[in-house]
Amino acid sequence: MANNQIILEIGGMTCAACSSRIEKVLSRFQGVNQVHINLATETAYLEYSTADVSIADIISRVEKIGYKASIQEKKSNNQDHRRDILAKKREFLFAALLSLPLLWSMAAHFSFTSFIPVPSLLANPWIQFMLATPIQFVIGRAFYTGAFYAIRNKTPNMDVLVVLGTSAAYFYSIYLAYEWSTVAGGESSMTYFETGAFLITFIKMGKWLEALTKGRTGLAIEKLVNLQVKTATVIRNGKDEQIPIELLRIDDVIRIKPGERIPVDGELLTGSTYVDQSMLTGESIPVKKEPGDPLIGATLNKNGSVTYRVNKRLEDTVLNQIIRMVREAQGSKAPIQRVADVISEFFVQIVVCIAIATFIIWYVWLTSQDLGLAMQAAISVLVIACPCALGLATPTSIMVGSGRAAEHGILFKRGEQLERLHKTDTIVFDKTGTLTVGKPVMTDAMTFEGDVADILTLAASAEKLSEHPVASALVQAALEKGHLLQEVNDFNAVSGMGIEAFVHGQAVIVGTRNWLKMNQIDYTAGEEQIMRLELEGKTVVLVAINHTFAGLFAVADELRDSAVEAISQLRSMGKEVIMLTGDHMNAARIIANKAGIDQVIAGVLPEGKAQVIRDLRKARKKVLMVGDGINDAPALATANFSLALSNGTDVAIEAADLTLVTDNLMRIPHAIEISRRTIKNIKQNLVASLLYNAIAIPIAMSGMLMPWVAGAAMALSSVSVILNALRLQKISMPAHSSQGGKPIEYV
Ligand code: ADP
Ligand code: MG
Repeated sequence: MANNQIILEIGGMTCAACSSRIEKVLSRFQGVNQVHINLATETAYLEYSTADVSIADIISRVEKIGYKASIQEKKSNNQDHRRDILAKKREFLFAALLSLPLLWSMAAHFSFTSFIPVPSLLANPWIQFMLATPIQFVIGRAFYTGAFYAIRNKTPNMDVLVVLGTSAAYFYSIYLAYEWSTVAGGESSMTYFETGAFLITFIKMGKWLEALTKGRTGLAIEKLVNLQVKTATVIRNGKDEQIPIELLRIDDVIRIKPGERIPVDGELLTGSTYVDQSMLTGESIPVKKEPGDPLIGATLNKNGSVTYRVNKRLEDTVLNQIIRMVREAQGSKAPIQRVADVISEFFVQIVVCIAIATFIIWYVWLTSQDLGLAMQAAISVLVIACPCALGLATPTSIMVGSGRAAEHGILFKRGEQLERLHKTDTIVFDKTGTLTVGKPVMTDAMTFEGDVADILTLAASAEKLSEHPVASALVQAALEKGHLLQEVNDFNAVSGMGIEAFVHGQAVIVGTRNWLKMNQIDYTAGEEQIMRLELEGKTVVLVAINHTFAGLFAVADELRDSAVEAISQLRSMGKEVIMLTGDHMNAARIIANKAGIDQVIAGVLPEGKAQVIRDLRKARKKVLMVGDGINDAPALATANFSLALSNGTDVAIEAADLTLVTDNLMRIPHAIEISRRTIKNIKQNLVASLLYNAIAIPIAMSGMLMPWVAGAAMALSSVSVILNALRLQKISMPAHSSQGGKPIEYV
């Protein structure tokens, strides 16, 4: 059964009650397996089986309950967003223009403003009626339609509150105006036309400010989308041709001049250059590229003129993988949001009940049946209680937090992972390719039987078929010495151990001590040398030819620049740091010491690594496993949280909760910090919006809050939640100092 994923754009949501309603309706659909609605991005993420349900069904269902739905287009929503801001601004200005005369007319209501002359025209209730009506029904129309659908679906939302509050004020005022013309005759009378008008004006102002600030929360995606180059200079039939990148094919050859942005991913063919990859990795130091090296689309070519071969389709480029991942993370829900969802589900009903109770208490007991005052208090309750801020609290912080992370090459899979990361307490590092650069170089060669050149040739020939970093070191050394590699038969690799093969009729075995032991080969002659080399931090591989121990090679791998600083940072955060490796303890210990790690688990086979993680979890540790994502997959999958370093050409690493598109290990403490700060931010937002309601509702009930002040306060509470979330954009994530202080010349 085909399981499909899609992101829909949803229009017309006003608060958390709306999003949880759509979510509920869609999750009841047969064939829909997962739904996440995000109020901040106004999107729905769906997983559904194509066999049971079609997108058209889903869209029409969403529209039936009163919202708009459409398939998200690839373009940046930048333009849409601007249009949205403009429309909201116009609505607000129109409402404000009509409300101003009403504000003026209010001067007559209060003794302290009574010195302001009010033209008798404005004091006329029917003139006020004419000003208030367009606000109530033209600008306010969306509230009525929203409330209508909400009530029909038995899931009342904030529209219901607004409609109840403003309509009560409006219709009561008509009654007062009617009374004025028939009974009082001529003399000006108090009405409440301004109440509803101001309220709607303030809510519209809130929506406009919300749209303005929301725009800034989506900045990360916008920046990424804008990185995409539109055209490329392709060499076809010996001629340079400028074509749109959509028309590029795999194996096309592209020419890049200094200062140009690289259009799509590929492999360098001719020339060499430095490339600034900071827009994707967050690392400011240019990277040297030579023939055979990968080039990543959207990065900036600094100094060289080069040609390269396209090796990925546009939709599979690193940039597009990153955009997809960030969109998904930003549009997903964090578990903490459940708090807000549960509350907003019952909120409206409770508020309506409180408002009715307020009305009765005022009308019957507190005043001698003063309809006006009773109504004012009830309307204030209805308005102040809108759970808008509550609905925005979580998604806005997740959006800003994960966006900020992405700017530094830290890609969370979902909001859930962003919430979980900082809770881990034990960090397990793989050695080769994670703590070390993963490109070992051969440093020593020794023979006990036969000629070094012969043994290296045999070993390297066999290793050519292996993908292990140690194998590439031997192959490279052999090629550099000018040896010709020979034909290989019956190749067999045992992971974490070594290899065996026939080269030119000779049985060749290369690998660890255990591997030779398993093959019953005696290597005691080399014992002393092995020890010595390992104590220099080198990895030693033994070679046997025709079942006799023949020689050994040592390879050394460099520690990553950022390792020492990252590990000390992690330890100062109170995390336990462990190194886990298949290498021998002697060599592992040296590397660990250099990196500042005192706990080492060495000599572990790949399957054993997962068992080590399982044991740690049994000891109630919350394990964060850091690996390179290739031979560490089982360990990554077993840990509470998995972090993979991407090799720079493929970003979406399946087993990982978090991918780093950089080899700067400092991003690990940074990611933990972002996780911690984002969750703290969400909690602040939730507490603030709940507290706001808890304090404001009793004040409104007491009648001390004018309804229009309630409207303004509500608008401001939404905006303040967004502003608080935007503080996450300021988290600083410096490059690690040893790199930052070392400028690289590329001119
Ligand atoms: P790590 O945990 O450091 O990533 P592995 O589990 O991949 O290491 O391998 C453990 C050890 O097995 C290596 O240090 C190396 O000595 C040996 N080994 C694995 N594969 C090969 C190979 N193809 N050739 C030689 N030695 C190998
Ligand atoms: Mg490894």
